[in-house]
Amino acid sequence: MQIGIPKELHPAERRVAMTPSACGKLVARGFSVVLEEGAGTSARFDDAAYLAAGATLADRATVYGTSDLVLQINPIDAADAALLRPGGRVACFWFGDLARDAATILRSKRATLLAYEKIPRTTVAQSFDVLSSMANVAGYRAVIEASNEIGSFLSLQMTAAGKVPPRKVLVIGAGVAGLAAIGAARALGADVRAFDTRPAVKEEVKSLGARFLELQFKESGDGGGGYAKTMSKEFIDAEMALFRAQAPELDVVITTALIPGRPAPKLWMADMVRAMKPGSVIVDMAAEQGGNCELTRPGERTDVGGVVILGYTDLASRMAGDASTFFANNMVHMLRHVSVAGEQGAIAFD
Ligand code: NAD
Repeated sequence: MQIGIPKELHPAERRVAMTPSACGKLVARGFSVVLEEGAGTSARFDDAAYLAAGATLADRATVYGTSDLVLQINPIDAADAALLRPGGRVACFWFGDLARDAATILRSKRATLLAYEKIPRTTVAQSFDVLSSMANVAGYRAVIEASNEIGSFLSLQMTAAGKVPPRKVLVIGAGVAGLAAIGAARALGADVRAFDTRPAVKEEVKSLGARFLELQFKESGDGGGGYAKTMSKEFIDAEMALFRAQAPELDVVITTALIPGRPAPKLWMADMVRAMKPGSVIVDMAAEQGGNCELTRPGERTDVGGVVILGYTDLASRMAGDASTFFANNMVHMLRHVSVAGEQGAIAFD
C-alpha cells in the first residue's frame, strides 16, 4: 500500500504529517511512502533523511495521483482534491463543511475522506488521537508565548539582587490543552489556578500543583463522553463574576474552553481585559472557534491598553519538529488499526 505525504500548503503551517523516523517504521511494515519534495523542510526534516528511511520523492501531482492513502494535516482543498485519483483516499482534519468545493470534487471522484476529528476518543484510539497530541503541544506553547510576552520570571526569585513574586496564571478549561498549559506553567514556577465546568477535572488540576477555582453553584458541565455541555446563563454569569474578581491580580490568562460543535463560549469580556494590569497577557487558545475573549482577533496579536491578547491559531505549528513527530507517530499507530476495504475503498477501523 502506498502512503502519500504532501507538503502542507497553509502559509502559517510548518508541520508535516510524516517524519523520517515514522517513515522508517512504515517501510519496515511493508508500506511504501511517497513524499512531496521538501515536505518536511519547515519542520527541519530534510529530503535526504526521508530517502535514508526508505521513502521516495515525487512532485505533488504524483503524491496525490498515485497513492492509496494520502496523509496530511490540514483540510484538503479543491486543487488537491482534483489531483486525487478516482476512488482515492485522504486523511486530514476536516472540521465539517469548511471546504465545500473540495467536498464536491471528492464526492464526484467517489473518494474516501477520513477526518481526524471524528476518530473516537476511546482508550484503543488514544495512540492515534491527533486532536489530543496537538492540543498537548499547543497548551505547552501557549505558556511559552505568554512568558515571552510578559518578559519576566514566572517563578519566585529570591536573590541578593532582589525578590520577584511568582506570576499568577489562570487557565480556563482543563481539557487536554488546559492541563498541558497548567503543567508547563507550574514547571516554570508560576502560581496557577484553573477553572472548568466539569467538576471531574478538579483532581487532575490539583495533581499538577494548581488550585481549582470553584463556584457555589450546583450545575455540572459534563455533557457526556468527557466533553462539556452548554451551561445555563446563570452559571455563566457566576463564572464571569469569579473571573472579574480574579482579573486585576492576574499576569497571564490562558483560555481553552470549548463545547464540541459550537462556537467557543465568550467568557473573558472587554471589561475584564481592561481590569488587567498593563503588561499582562491573554492567550486565547479557542481563537479558531471564535475565541473565549471578546476582544480576540483570530491569528493576531492585539494590544488593548498594554494588555496583550494572543489569538494565534498556529500554536502547535510553532513547535513544528515535536508536533510533527507526535503527529507522524499517531499516523503509524492509526495505520495499524485501519483497514482499507470494500468496492469503494472505504476506510474502516478494526
Ligand atoms: P475541549 O477542547 O472540547 O474543551 C476544553 C475544556 O473546556 C473542557 O475541559 C471543557 O470542560 C471546558 N469548558 C467548556 N466550557 C467551559 C466554560 N464555560 N468554562 C470553563 N471551561 C469550559 O476538551 P478536550 O481537551 O478535547 O477534552 C475533553 C475530554 O475528553 C476530557 O475529559 C479529556 O480527558 C477527554 N479525552 C479523552 C481521550 C481518550 O480517552 N482517548 C482523549 C482525549 C480527551
